[in-house]
Amino acid sequence: MSMHELAKPLAGRVAVITGASSGIGEAAAEHLAALGATVVALARRADRLGDLVTRIEKDGGTALALAVDVTDAAAVQAAADRIADELGGADLLFNNAGVMLPAPIEERATEQWQRQIDLNISGLMNAIGAFTPQLVAAAAERGVADLINTSSIAAQNIFPTFAVYSGTKAYVSHLSRHLRAELGPKKVRVSALEPGIVGTELQSHVTDEGALEWLDGSKQTMEWLTPDDVAQAVGFIATLPPRVNLQQLTIMPTGQTS
Ligand code: NDP
Repeated sequence: MSMHELAKPLAGRVAVITGASSGIGEAAAEHLAALGATVVALARRADRLGDLVTRIEKDGGTALALAVDVTDAAAVQAAADRIADELGGADLLFNNAGVMLPAPIEERATEQWQRQIDLNISGLMNAIGAFTPQLVAAAAERGVADLINTSSIAAQNIFPTFAVYSGTKAYVSHLSRHLRAELGPKKVRVSALEPGIVGTELQSHVTDEGALEWLDGSKQTMEWLTPDDVAQAVGFIATLPPRVNLQQLTIMPTGQTS
């Protein structure tokens, strides 16, 4: 392997990242660009995406910002069509946009239930629907493509008042296992990433007092993961040899017990 291939193992690859305007997605955009991928950053806040692209380009990377609400299936398809036209299609989808809104179920916070279902499930599916054809085509041509879905330890563990969020993440993890079996024979690797607590904007949307207290307490007793810690894991998954599919990755703060 040449020095260039070692330094830029994702050179020639096109990585689409949803939820790239903050937190894990933003860190992953910077890291995958540093590894040589052309990054397409999707989220709703165009200003933040613009700043991200400027930073990536300043560091010698290549990136494109597309302001897209992933709950809008037609908008996601239009983004996919543009990526096909301008960049020849994606061969990596980091399907990462999500929202966490815990609340006791008896409060019947139906608007919050729906927001989580719309983004964490329907938004995720909109991206899978629009980009899977590109991933399959790229894998047939180049021997590998990646679909990496951001789930959570909430997919496996029990957190009272987080039932709806956890349910959406259990969907992501189980869907990923099924898609791996379906797409693996087509050389598309599918991974579910299950982080513990990461310090991002995710916590800033929480309004439930009990959950806020729990989060605040945990911040005092342990060092949370940083978005870049998770971005490094995404880079690791994507740079493995094509025969290796890391199916499910749990990444925890060392001090987090469950
Ligand atoms: P952030 O809130 O920092 O990031 C969420 C991203 O999703 C933002 O870029 C936001 O951008 C984007 N987003 C929200 N709604 C939409 C939409 N309708 N269309 C397009 N993009 C949207 O949180 P994280 O980085 O923590 O979250 C990333 C993923 O990680 C989520 O799936 C989350 O569930 C998961 N996760 C997070 C953990 C944590 O502790 N932080 C732990 C385990 C999993 P914009 O507002 O500009 O659209």
